[in-house]
Amino acid sequence: MCFVKNLSDIAVIRDVLSRHGFRFSKSLGQNFLVNPGVCPRMAEECGASPETGVLEVGPGIGVLTAELAKRAGRVVSIELDQRLLPVLDETLADFSNVKIVNGDVMKLDLARLLAEEFPGMEVVVCANLPYYITSPVIMRLLEEKLPIASLTVMVQKEAAERLCALPGSRACGAVSAAVQYYAEPEVLFSVGRGSFVPQPNVDSAVIRFRIRKAPPVEVEDERAFFSLVKAAFGQRRKTVANSVSALLGLPKETVQRACEAAGVSPTARAEQLSMEQLAALSSAIGARRAGEEKGENQ
Ligand code: SAM
Repeated sequence: MCFVKNLSDIAVIRDVLSRHGFRFSKSLGQNFLVNPGVCPRMAEECGASPETGVLEVGPGIGVLTAELAKRAGRVVSIELDQRLLPVLDETLADFSNVKIVNGDVMKLDLARLLAEEFPGMEVVVCANLPYYITSPVIMRLLEEKLPIASLTVMVQKEAAERLCALPGSRACGAVSAAVQYYAEPEVLFSVGRGSFVPQPNVDSAVIRFRIRKAPPVEVEDERAFFSLVKAAFGQRRKTVANSVSALLGLPKETVQRACEAAGVSPTARAEQLSMEQLAALSSAIGARRAGEEKGENQ
């Protein structure tokens, strides 16, 4: 029997952590959940079921891990901080379907890990992400095209708004456009800063990305498309044509012509463009570059 009853009870957390001589590490983004309503809700929203495998990043003392383990067939949780391993041994002792992997989520071979740990299972990701690597983790999980059905993650509220912004809206940036290419994002619910110990300076939100089976736009060259998106949003106060020309190192005239061919106003700002326009602009620039290489006069 596990004697730890409620892992989101602040008294229980303090007791477990002090017995293990644990001190929070700010640089590892260690803000642990103490609001008992949040983890069961996240575990439900991520779609964990006996047929599902759940990949978690950063279990902390296992408060979300335990809720996932109650619902999922199997849970594999990646924790970088070695000091938490004996703590997790204790707090998750009741669950035979949980495995903790000690490592850095940015460095592990995730494709291999998923294939080995969840053979034949549908996999979802559910995590209260360390804030210092929110976007890199999300982009890694999306860009590698891992066999994952959805990501349900807690991030800082501002990051949630940015990650879920639609192309054509003010909050949209290069990351939002990239996210839209791979997934359908939505904000599920907000979580106040008082729900964590130690308390962070900002509120959080839980967001969900349902991974698309196919991208919403057809793109000939994905690398070129993402470079274009990065360049278009790179200098937000400039027009698309100026920002793209400066950051991709292309003559302004070439970019202006590509804009015309793509049906994009060269004086528009990147946040005004739809995914279709970004894709068309990327193709038009690619066509112009190919033409120039062949020596054609565009
Ligand atoms: N899931 C717990 C909760 O909700 O209370 C803890 C979440 S805390 C925001 C983030 C966790 O991620 C910490 O346990 C931290 O040690 C871990 N972490 C930080 N960087 C990591 C990395 N690169 N790879 C894996 N885990 C990491």
